[in-house]
Amino acid sequence: MAKKRKSRGRAKGGKGRSEYVSCTNCGSRIPVDKAIKATRRVSYVDPTLAKELRKSGTFIPRISVTKYYCVSCAVHAGIVRVRSREERKVVE
Ligand SMILES: [Zn+2]
Repeated sequence: MAKKRKSRGRAKGGKGRSEYVSCTNCGSRIPVDKAIKATRRVSYVDPTLAKELRKSGTFIPRISVTKYYCVSCAVHAGIVRVRSREERKVVE
């Protein structure tokens, strides 16, 4: 059978079922190994204000926020791209 992707779109391998997570954007239930995980370091302080505060030597904490996206939302948000026939065989 022809395979679209080497990993079948997941990182499951030969193991059985895997846990599910909810997509941050649409709330759909997706397996953890299929979900696109995006970790961002965010600051709760307004960027312009943060710049001023940093100039005066203030420490501004940055919190890492992890979000899980389903494939369609990740494509829509530009986190991942639709890849060409050859390119999608490459596992990143
Ligand atoms: Zn989604």
